[in-house]
Amino acid sequence: MLSQVVQLVEQKQRFMITSHVRPDGDGLGSGLALYWMFRALNKDADVVLRDRVPPAYNVLPGSELVLVQDDVTEKYDAAFIIECSDVDRPGLPSLKDQFVVNIDHHSTTVPFGDINWIDSTAAAVGEMIYNLCKALGVEVTEEIAECIYTALLTDTGSFHFSNTTERTLKIASELVRRGVEPARISQALFYSGSFSKIKLLGLVLSNIQRDDSGRIAWITMDRGTMYEADACEEDSDGIVNHALSIGEVEAVAFFKELSPGAYRVSLRSKGKNNVAKIAELFGGGGHRNAAGCRIEGDFESVRRRVIEELQHCIGVTPVSA
Ligand code: 5GP
Ligand code: MN
Repeated sequence: MLSQVVQLVEQKQRFMITSHVRPDGDGLGSGLALYWMFRALNKDADVVLRDRVPPAYNVLPGSELVLVQDDVTEKYDAAFIIECSDVDRPGLPSLKDQFVVNIDHHSTTVPFGDINWIDSTAAAVGEMIYNLCKALGVEVTEEIAECIYTALLTDTGSFHFSNTTERTLKIASELVRRGVEPARISQALFYSGSFSKIKLLGLVLSNIQRDDSGRIAWITMDRGTMYEADACEEDSDGIVNHALSIGEVEAVAFFKELSPGAYRVSLRSKGKNNVAKIAELFGGGGHRNAAGCRIEGDFESVRRRVIEELQHCIGVTPVSA
């Protein structure tokens, strides 16, 4: 819990910060905000990630300091793992040999850390990091504010999703007071994409499918589509939300071919429909309205299994999927 984290930070000196593979705005923003807080306290800190920082997030102060490594090579006083449902999610095998602080807002998370601070009411881990900043008595500098703002903005879908609360908006307001320029962050995140990204969006959306009920839709990205758009996997981030913009659609699956017979599946839903439960069935996890997993098999069987689970989840009687 928070008080244990505060005590640890006050007593120790050398910290490592990490988040999950394919890092997102909350993992990066919260991790870098924590980095700037440690710096303000004259602590030593490394931010270590398995995957590179996606170019859009170069707007984050400190993004150039991230160490991209396959494993942890040093012994730290503590390793802070941000936004991860288990100790394997960062993709750094030796992490389990460190003293682990698990900071997360997923409801599915298991308390895998030596210290666990989990708040499933937080819209983003960024909200928790903001509270930690206050608890440590660190001034919210412009760097910290920009990092936390990015975490809030991305995890709430630009303050659209149901996790957006009064607390989220209050913190966002305070961050703007501390120097964040919302339009500058939005420009970097949402209006600086590549030609390939938009080309990919068009190709993927043009093949959208739905079941007989019209309440479930799915989209697919195979290797051929990526090749045609000259796109990389990162370019597919955010596409799934477009499918959910259809009025009558309540849940969406996005199948991305990783290699022949292996798919990364992104699930999204509206309202009370809990897709994290479905992701968990396949060994993944996430939040009620946004979750993901990896499934192996031929496309047709993967698609059928997922769509049947989605139909079950939202209460559609399967006719043909
Ligand atoms: P996305 O669909 O954007 O890749 O992931 C949406 C959310 O689902 C992520 O923020 C994360 O919470 C969760 N998620 C995605 N993939 C996995 C996975 O393989 N394992 C777990 N535990 N969670 C995942
Ligand atoms: Mn998050």
